[in-house]
Amino acid sequence: MRHALLPLALLAVCACSPRGTDQPAAAADAPAATSATAGTHAFDATINQGDFAEHVRQLASDEFGGRAPGTPGEEKTIEYIKAQFARIGLQPGNGSDWFQTVPMVETTADESTALNLTVAGTPQVLKFGSDMVIGTRTGQAQVNIKDSPLVFVGYGVDAPEHDWNDYAGIDVKGKTVVMLVNDPGFHAGDAKLFDGKRMTYYGRWTYKFDEAALKGASAALIIHDTEGASYGWDVVKNSWSGPQYDLPAKDDPAPRAPAQGWISADAATALFKAAGQDLSKLRAAANKRGFKPMPLDATLSLDLKSTTVEKTSRNVVGLLPGSETPDEAIVYMAHWDHLGTHEGETGDNIYNGAVDNATGVAGIIELAEAFRKAPTPPKRSILFLAVTLEESGLLGSKYYVAHPVVPLDKTVGVINLDALAPVGKARDITVVGQGSSQLEDLLKTVIDTQQRKAVSETNTAAGYYFRSDHFNFAKAGVPALYVDSGTDLLEGGLAAGDAAGKDYTENRYHKAADQFDAATWKFDGIIQDLETVQAIGQALANNGQWPNWYEGNPFKAARDKMLPAAPVAK
Ligand SMILES: [Zn+2]
Repeated sequence: MRHALLPLALLAVCACSPRGTDQPAAAADAPAATSATAGTHAFDATINQGDFAEHVRQLASDEFGGRAPGTPGEEKTIEYIKAQFARIGLQPGNGSDWFQTVPMVETTADESTALNLTVAGTPQVLKFGSDMVIGTRTGQAQVNIKDSPLVFVGYGVDAPEHDWNDYAGIDVKGKTVVMLVNDPGFHAGDAKLFDGKRMTYYGRWTYKFDEAALKGASAALIIHDTEGASYGWDVVKNSWSGPQYDLPAKDDPAPRAPAQGWISADAATALFKAAGQDLSKLRAAANKRGFKPMPLDATLSLDLKSTTVEKTSRNVVGLLPGSETPDEAIVYMAHWDHLGTHEGETGDNIYNGAVDNATGVAGIIELAEAFRKAPTPPKRSILFLAVTLEESGLLGSKYYVAHPVVPLDKTVGVINLDALAPVGKARDITVVGQGSSQLEDLLKTVIDTQQRKAVSETNTAAGYYFRSDHFNFAKAGVPALYVDSGTDLLEGGLAAGDAAGKDYTENRYHKAADQFDAATWKFDGIIQDLETVQAIGQALANNGQWPNWYEGNPFKAARDKMLPAAPVAK
């Protein structure tokens, strides 16, 4: 990945757990340095520190070049994971193949593109970068839109379980929808509306574009505001300039609008004023139940040219077949990709991604070994999925969910590991997006025995649940648990945990300095967390339950549809 992509990867798509880190004191239980090749390490059947550290050391070594898709680092990484899965005794998960090829398309919009508006009969031009950003996910080199009428659709939310529809009573087919970022609860500060300040699925900009496409809009524009987006216009501008990555449209079952983008708050205010409307009044109206979409006296024309390049990368899939109901599976997943080597950058330019996400990959390998070598095989199958292109927009997982090797209605539940913090044991465990599914009931049973408690992530306004790979399963209805290391550390408590998280975010997250360090990493907390998710998978593999989303969750309707005859977990 190029450095210019970082704002996109960092703010738009990847949560990658900005937390955890190394501690100044050397850990007494750090494993001894091992020799240079994987072949000489003697792996044990259990989840343990030495084996875990060995996997991280390999995956995060300079030799792997930062594990960027499409580079020699990809070959080394996926071959390493495949070799480990084979050594452990898993079966190839994709038919007879260990790999699943993931196609992607890189689209770069011509930045001389303008939005040509006619507002109350008067032409108006919005320029790329300063006033707006625009792009297409259709893969088409040229998108033409002519005189598409503008409609203000509030937050662009259609949420039956919230009894809320910003599209009520209007057909936006062929039209250009203009909408606010985040959700009514956030801007109204009302805890009873859309979880208040906590980010809901409906507050995510990705949702808004998906929904607009579903409704048949020709173009979708989000009005930026710094508070609602949680970042300034410059971040939007940088993220939407240069290459954008996606699955080819043919490989994505979801519809896509011909054009989508953002307009700056200033440009939107001026546009609404010229159309005879007051944007601040419409903002207030959009926060109230019963809001009605508002056609504007304006049309949009657009001639968008883009260059596209098609590429491929690969997921790695290993299967442990169940002994009684092998057609049903639990999925453990982690993304293997990271940001690669940044040519031309002086000093250490290899983005090793030790925490993000060599730890998660090492975690699923350790889980695979423990399940495979347990005395009794699981009744249901367990699938171990190392996905690619997370840092480019969760594409490996998106492709998998569109082309699953175990059908989604036979997929019992998903556990995602993304960036485990090597900071030692904690009295808590972080459940990102807490309050989502019945998988949390199973988690509670396990951590009760450890005298630990589950806590929510600190910044619930950031919507981290919607920013890692399990989210593609969630969108499709499959319950997905995303746990992260705790922050109330046995050594130093919350102060130490918060300091470690801050240190990681500031000094290592998505930087070349995210490196493995056997001398300072503490593994005991990670091992305990892996044993925790192992116990959840163990229960699911043998209890015949079909966990569902909690009542009121946006993904429950999809799961209900998927399991017409299946008993729901009690
Ligand atoms: Zn990550």
